[in-house]
Amino acid sequence: MRKFYLTTAIDYVNAFPHLGHALEKVQADVIARYQRLRKKDVFFLTGTDENSLKNVQAAEKEGISVKELVDKNAQKFYQLKEALNLSFDDFIRTTQERHQIGAKRFWLAIKKDVYKKKYRGLYCLGCEAFYTPEELKDGLCPEHKKKPELVEEENYFFRLSKYQKKLEKIIESEKIKIVPEKRKNEVLAFIKKGLEDICVSRSKQRAHGWGIEVPGDKDQIIWVWIDALSNYLTGIGYGTDEQKFQRYWPADIHIIGKGIARFHCVFWPAFLLSANLPLPKKIFIHGYITIGGQKISKSLGNVIDPFDLVKKYGTDAVRYFLLREISPFEDGDFTLEKLEKRYDSDLAKGLGNLLLRVISLAKRIDGKSLRIKLQRPALRAIIKKEERNWKKAIEDFKFNEALNSVWNLISFGDRYLEKEKPWVLLKEEKLKRKGKEVIESLLFFLEKIGKLLQPFLPETSEKIFQQIKSKNPQLLFPKR
Ligand SMILES: [Zn+2]
Repeated sequence: MRKFYLTTAIDYVNAFPHLGHALEKVQADVIARYQRLRKKDVFFLTGTDENSLKNVQAAEKEGISVKELVDKNAQKFYQLKEALNLSFDDFIRTTQERHQIGAKRFWLAIKKDVYKKKYRGLYCLGCEAFYTPEELKDGLCPEHKKKPELVEEENYFFRLSKYQKKLEKIIESEKIKIVPEKRKNEVLAFIKKGLEDICVSRSKQRAHGWGIEVPGDKDQIIWVWIDALSNYLTGIGYGTDEQKFQRYWPADIHIIGKGIARFHCVFWPAFLLSANLPLPKKIFIHGYITIGGQKISKSLGNVIDPFDLVKKYGTDAVRYFLLREISPFEDGDFTLEKLEKRYDSDLAKGLGNLLLRVISLAKRIDGKSLRIKLQRPALRAIIKKEERNWKKAIEDFKFNEALNSVWNLISFGDRYLEKEKPWVLLKEEKLKRKGKEVIESLLFFLEKIGKLLQPFLPETSEKIFQQIKSKNPQLLFPKR
């Protein structure tokens, strides 16, 4: 069996998960399920990034210990598994011992490129990274729109500059393939501007003692990005389970949001080169979700709780919305109206109605003699065509287009049903046989739709299979 290793970004746990976190996990889940259906030995890793200063501050604000805060919030991120029906194989927390062991080992592996120096720089706490004045927009971090703080310290630096040429070649030649192309070009432009060495530790004092200590220096904490990025290694046993690590590394796909492209497409490959480890094969970069056109933000009070949505509309309806309505590469907008529209027109009326009609017809015929078989060639061509499109779209991360193909089939099925009118055929002795064949073909057609929906809407897909088997018609998406 060929292995397939995919990862999501690990989330900051300074707050509860919002809809943006849900999007990335659901996208990753589709890929994992798709690859499992292709008989790959899939390892799907997700988790939480817990050693950030943001957590220290969030804990202070809530008046609890940092440990209490990260435990509480990480639990909530883990619960997305059930709410969104995620099929991840492991959930790594960077406060776990297995991670700390591996992260320290990784530090030692890149140590030859690390040196100490005194410096001052502008630090954005949100990004956990330094910015040059030119990189700021009106003096603010372009990602967080916040003023970075001036930090003056003696810390460790990593010789990123040394890897400039190599990195340029790796990205340009697509040795690491960055999807979409637009992001690849942004990364290349960043590298070509010239890479400076980066700060990779902070004083224990500034870290409030929170984080992973630099091996051999008890006054310094490993930069949270080296710590966090190394989860992709430690999550499959780097430093603790060599056999497992050898089995799954390198990653076949890292899935991340556009705000952390630089860390994954520039810094991470440089660290790996330094550590003499193979590079990931692909990095898929998604956009952000906006709410009614605005960025998701606590201060705007527009944070949508994915658990609430699931409670009201069901897991598959939320998955469907995220995958169909939100573009995989650009920012996409969420409103309740849009979700309800998709629910009513695509799920209840579209898919649900076709299934209900066909299963109700099948129920009228003697179940024993009914087969699931393509008896009418009219359906064959469209199945072939849309199946091809579906596959190509998934492999290109175009989840919305893959679902579009399935819904093309659903509309075709509707039209076919209206044209053939099997309920009329069944009434006439002479035409009964033809009517039966139409229904048998439609059962085959629905089974195909169920299969194509498997990676996207696993529960719905299962219900479709059950109804085809039981001939017991039931509403897939009841009225809200
Ligand atoms: Zn920032």
